[in-house]
Amino acid sequence: MRKRGGGGIRGIWAVWTGAAWLLGACAGQRAPPPSTEIDETAFRTHVSVLASDDFEGRRPGTAGEEKTVSYLIEQYRRLGLKPGNGESFVQPVPMVEILAGADASLSIAGPKGTVTPANGRDIVMWTKRAVPQVHLAQSELVFVGYGIVAPEYAWNDYADIDVHGKTVVVLVNDPGYAGKDPKLFKGGAMTSYGIWSYKVEEAARQGAGGVLLVHDAGAAGYGWNVVQNTWTGPQLELSTADGNAGRAAIEAWIDNDAARALFAAAGLDFTASAAAAARVGFKAVPMGLRLDATLHNSLRQFVSANVIAVLPGGSRRRETVMYVAHWDHLGTDPSRAGHRIFNGAVDNASGVAGLLTVAQSFARTQPPADRSIVFLALTGGEAGLLGSQYYVANPLFPLRQTAAVLDLDTLRIGGPTRDVSVFGFGNTDLEGTARSVALLQGRELSPDPIPELGLYFRSDSISFARASVPVLYAKGGLDDAARGPVWGRAQLDDYMAHRYRQPVDQYSTDWDVRGALDDLNLYYEVGNRVARSKRFPRWYPNSEYRVARIHAPP
Ligand SMILES: [Zn+2]
Repeated sequence: MRKRGGGGIRGIWAVWTGAAWLLGACAGQRAPPPSTEIDETAFRTHVSVLASDDFEGRRPGTAGEEKTVSYLIEQYRRLGLKPGNGESFVQPVPMVEILAGADASLSIAGPKGTVTPANGRDIVMWTKRAVPQVHLAQSELVFVGYGIVAPEYAWNDYADIDVHGKTVVVLVNDPGYAGKDPKLFKGGAMTSYGIWSYKVEEAARQGAGGVLLVHDAGAAGYGWNVVQNTWTGPQLELSTADGNAGRAAIEAWIDNDAARALFAAAGLDFTASAAAAARVGFKAVPMGLRLDATLHNSLRQFVSANVIAVLPGGSRRRETVMYVAHWDHLGTDPSRAGHRIFNGAVDNASGVAGLLTVAQSFARTQPPADRSIVFLALTGGEAGLLGSQYYVANPLFPLRQTAAVLDLDTLRIGGPTRDVSVFGFGNTDLEGTARSVALLQGRELSPDPIPELGLYFRSDSISFARASVPVLYAKGGLDDAARGPVWGRAQLDDYMAHRYRQPVDQYSTDWDVRGALDDLNLYYEVGNRVARSKRFPRWYPNSEYRVARIHAPP
């Protein structure tokens, strides 16, 4: 049974504080040092400020960004942390905002006439190319199934087909998900090939001019409303010298019903085609349809910010333990009736508040750890993990000396849980550290409870994993201590369906934050242990993210 009202760590702390107080009392000296326990009041204050209407939904490149960045710097300073980028708390991240004009046009012609999915309703299209206009003319549609090239699974959906200049029609998730066949990919658990961003990158590598992602709420892990909230309006990208010329000209999501109509227009049965795509030996299918599309874009270049601070360590201060959380959210939608601000309280004001409260606990920790502790609030998480991609390409602390990254993404708001879920389970031995700390809290470690959603690949964790920096992304699981796992699952489903990326994701003083505080105490302790160890956490030998990590001497 779980001890409530204080886990093991809290218990140890109480004993230690008591002893210190006694010593102080005997010697007639100072009061005990402030607790390193996660501070609930501070946590609530940070969430309520960051998720307030005043912060306008924290969209990069807006006044909401300026307020967020100022707030973070003020908090870092208040805690006595040092700037993480020379004299500055900011790592500038050059971005471009691409807004497609209302005159976007699209039509798809076939032997039986023209099909025209309505942009914004049946199809949501954009471009990541930073140019005033993109245009596709008579681009042939090819159904490439899951659009995957994965040598380790002996799978190539682009074998024997040349898609240069063509528009590929792609399913999301992967063949293991579709067939629930444990021998295909990782069975029902999504692999890194399942995520939409992989699909568009692979299509671009293959030279495709356009990509239509077929939406399916189950396979994607979010509904059509999330597609509409995320991919309409101005789109953000990292600003690159070539203006992302390597990307396909047109990227789009197509609603499931509209996709079925498209297959019907091609004389294909959607259900049968999708089933064939999940079988070994699938071959891409030219659909006999041609697409014309034009987008006129207005472009705005601006510089966003990763906000970074460091608490210098002792004997091995060049080595770091890094806490990360994306600070941004979706901003404000003026075209919306009613409440227009995407406050992003859970996503991810909770994670940023967590990062600040963990920082406070470290600032109160005596003596400081041997390794330095870095706090990195990332920009552009919602727009495709842009801040973390930029950071790993331009690290301010050498990645090889970064012993561990602990990712705080959308904390679990609710009561205590019996389990701690690890997203991307089975990859690094940071799990061993997390397991022993969880046990002290009376909790067990569990794998990602909903691996088909691929949340690991949708978090900043994946940017660090791809750079082979051991990363932990864990939080309270579904097994609610009071109400059990069925209730826990229902809560999560309710969040994903009704609050995720919607304006109702707001803070309330009725939030039960006990579960989040347990998770933050666990994160603090895991980081503290790694920061006091000489050892570098490792990827497990069978992890796809493992490459030889060579560490310079301290
Ligand atoms: Zn997010």
